[in-house]
Amino acid sequence: MFDKGILLIISGPSGAGKGTVVRELMKNDKYCLSVSVTTRAPRAGEEEGVSYYFRTEEEFKGLTERGELLEYASFCGNYYGTPLKYVEARLSEGKNVILEIEVQGAVQVKERCPDAILIFLTPESISDLEDRLRGRGTETDEVISMRLDRAREEVRLMDKYDYIVLNDLVRNATSRINGIVETEKYASERNRDFPEKFLSEKE
Ligand code: ADP
Ligand code: 5GP
Repeated sequence: MFDKGILLIISGPSGAGKGTVVRELMKNDKYCLSVSVTTRAPRAGEEEGVSYYFRTEEEFKGLTERGELLEYASFCGNYYGTPLKYVEARLSEGKNVILEIEVQGAVQVKERCPDAILIFLTPESISDLEDRLRGRGTETDEVISMRLDRAREEVRLMDKYDYIVLNDLVRNATSRINGIVETEKYASERNRDFPEKFLSEKE
């Protein structure tokens, strides 16, 4: 009972803390994370098949043409996409599947899977965001400025999301997301088959 997996999309500006919060959520085995495909070059420490599947533009194009991606989008000059098979398999096993993706992809998933929950994770302000991006030290000044411009646009698309989660402290953001998932799991809309199950139990 109440054992269906939920498709959980976590978006938010680059540097909001998505990776950090997702790592924390993943300590709970009710979640699994979909590893995306990207044409971006790996950052120091990123591993093939763990951080991303790193592919050429041509390989990426092949995936889109064969319908192997649930969604895909271009972000700051690179392509990113979600492998469809993995998501379908984990959801059918009853796992909550996390997609850490940007807004264009999030909107595509919501259209295709209206049951998905869209969460917009954000620090309190753009200056907190800049501090985090600079603190992470993984991008050049030019890329940081491109990502901040992009963040100014993304925050205006917040109304496409079901929930806004403030990432002030990682543990607060994590418990807010856990709370949303727990609540959604018991939504009557997600459990339309409950009467049948209830009535088929032996008395
Ligand atoms: P994203 O995946 O959204 O691009 P990251 O998870 O890489 O963001 O986080 C960006 C930087 O901000 C990292 O250096 C991370 O340690 C830091 N960070 C994440 N969450 C918080 C938080 N709640 N408070 C302060 N720093 C944070
Ligand atoms: P980064 O280059 O910092 O790893 O990711 C850049 C942006 O791409 C982030 O906003 C991240 O959430 C998003 N992203 C990562 N994987 C995917 C994906 O599979 N699909 C889409 N649409 N966006 C993704």
